[in-house]
Amino acid sequence: MFDNDYFTEAELSCRCCGKNNFKDKTLRRLVRVRELYGNPMIVNSGYRCPAQNTRLNATMTHATGQAVDVSVALSGAHKLLNIALEEGFTGIGVKQKGSIKKRFIHLDDLDSIPGKCIRPTVWSY
Ligand SMILES: [Zn+2]
Ligand SMILES: [Zn+2]
Repeated sequence: MFDNDYFTEAELSCRCCGKNNFKDKTLRRLVRVRELYGNPMIVNSGYRCPAQNTRLNATMTHATGQAVDVSVALSGAHKLLNIALEEGFTGIGVKQKGSIKKRFIHLDDLDSIPGKCIRPTVWSY
């Protein structure tokens, strides 16, 4: 499933334990975004095991294997957002203030599950 030209299994694995349950469907969507984006995309978080997710005190989106955080800012962030929306990412989290190096965009393609996660949606950090 990690047979693609852009993203390695390692960069999409849990940072604490190396586990990787990243969903194939989401990876294929990410590869389409990368092809349209045309520049390297730096992944700072992909799959997270539930324990790591709890340590980070985050919502469970990354534990589903359908979420990724990409380090990006300014015009790159604008371009990535456009493409991600076109390609059907349904959860968009935007961190675009403070240090340029710490800016990122969260993308996930979770489905709408009543009472669990409302999609499509967008939020800021
Ligand atoms: Zn882990
Ligand atoms: Zn995220």
